[in-house]
Amino acid sequence: MSAQIGVTGLAVMGANLARNLARNGYTVALHNRSVEKTDILLEKHGDDGDFIRTETLQELVDSLEKPRRVLIMVKAGKPVDSVIDQLVPLLEPGDIVIDGGNSHYEDTRRREAALSQHDLHFVGVGVSGGEEGALLGPSIMPGGSRESYDSLGPMLEKISAKYNGEPCCTWIGTDGAGHFVKMVHNGIEYADMQVIGEAFDLLRSGAGIEPAEQAKIFTDWNSGTLSSFLIEITAEVLGHTDERTGKPFVDVVVDAAGQKGTGRWTVVSALELGSPTSGIAESVFARALSSQKDQRVLAQDILQGHENTVELPETFVEDVRLALYASKLVSYAQGIDMLTAAAKEYGWELKLDEIASLWRAGCIIRAELLDDIMKAYAGDERPANLLLAPAFAEAIAGAVPAWRRVVATAVQLGIPVPVFSASLAYYDGLRRKRLPAALTQGLRDLFGAHTYNRVDTDGTFHTLWGEDK
Ligand code: NAP
Repeated sequence: MSAQIGVTGLAVMGANLARNLARNGYTVALHNRSVEKTDILLEKHGDDGDFIRTETLQELVDSLEKPRRVLIMVKAGKPVDSVIDQLVPLLEPGDIVIDGGNSHYEDTRRREAALSQHDLHFVGVGVSGGEEGALLGPSIMPGGSRESYDSLGPMLEKISAKYNGEPCCTWIGTDGAGHFVKMVHNGIEYADMQVIGEAFDLLRSGAGIEPAEQAKIFTDWNSGTLSSFLIEITAEVLGHTDERTGKPFVDVVVDAAGQKGTGRWTVVSALELGSPTSGIAESVFARALSSQKDQRVLAQDILQGHENTVELPETFVEDVRLALYASKLVSYAQGIDMLTAAAKEYGWELKLDEIASLWRAGCIIRAELLDDIMKAYAGDERPANLLLAPAFAEAIAGAVPAWRRVVATAVQLGIPVPVFSASLAYYDGLRRKRLPAALTQGLRDLFGAHTYNRVDTDGTFHTLWGEDK
């Protein structure tokens, strides 16, 4: 018996993807650097399907049908290069090496170029959905050559999440495109979680609504336009009581948000592409500020807020919902704008409707909204910006008065809402035909002779500043 795919790296993600493949009828060869993990998997879940146990990469490669497919699920970074270096001499032209970890897309581009020298396919695959998604059906974003997708795609589509029966997996584009799209997905996830946090803070610190009561509000919100996995689990977390103290769970957790780096990568990449991804950036900075707990504890007694008391409108809860919705739309618009910029930069033909479609199930940002986003990009006339698609222009316009009230109230009360406010500033900037950037250009020309363009004629101009004095 030979295996249709081999998996090396059997920690949570690799083990669950291997089990998912086996449950879907594929024979899976298993390998892990330390053999114990392979044996634990076989002992606990050997009944999931057909597995082949291997102890070395040579055994793994020998157990595979040709062209071979080897899925690497080891720790991102140097371990991936180390495994690739060991695998390459064992493989033959036409074989496919797949990296399903959270690799940086530039690493994937480099690895793809290197392996193509050996006539090997290298496929960087973004996988979202965490541990449970890997087992039950993740959202899958494969890059690499089109030819490799012809061989690998049917397998990935079979194990992916399904939305109304459609697989949440499609070929994204060459080299690092899959990992780039996964990175932007994670950036949007950061912003999504931050706006939920801002809403929670406003409802608690502004309106005095306790977590258990907020759990009901979020459950209610989950049945409307905000319907999404993250809103659903927010209700669960807010409704959870700590067993040890009887306090709301959120009150016993240290308020310093962790990060593994994909949000930061998104922002660095946005800066490099010149893409105005302010909401996502603010969400990453908000986590950074949350982690500076020592400074915040000191500052609390030193820095004065001069907050004003504000009478909250009766519509406050609904206002917050609308502000959350509008800010969330902006994060998606900014993420998609970044995809468009990257497609131009790297020569990828990214299909925005297909990308939105495969985020509809299985992944962390899955939301009803994504079905509408998919439809917005499905027609011949693609909007220049998501917010300019007629349905979204109308939806966000309906939210603007509440959004302004919420940001103004937050400012008066001294409640930080970095993503609510940055998103509103982006929205206002986007709809302004003229921005103060003309003055910036004037200043740059004066101090650095950086030149400027004129509104009334083509060409590049420089003013001889001070010469008329
Ligand atoms: P992980 O903790 O990131 O990595 C552990 C695995 O890597 C183990 O199998 C380990 O082998 C292996 N490994 C580490 N260094 C190695 C080396 N130098 N050579 C060979 N193998 C090495 O595992 P994970 O959480 O399952 O994640 C795997 C990948 O999926 C990562 O890129 C991660 O970022 C990504 N991902 C994770 C999640 C999640 O929810 N956890 C979600 C999406 C994507 P030993 O057992 O021998 O130490």
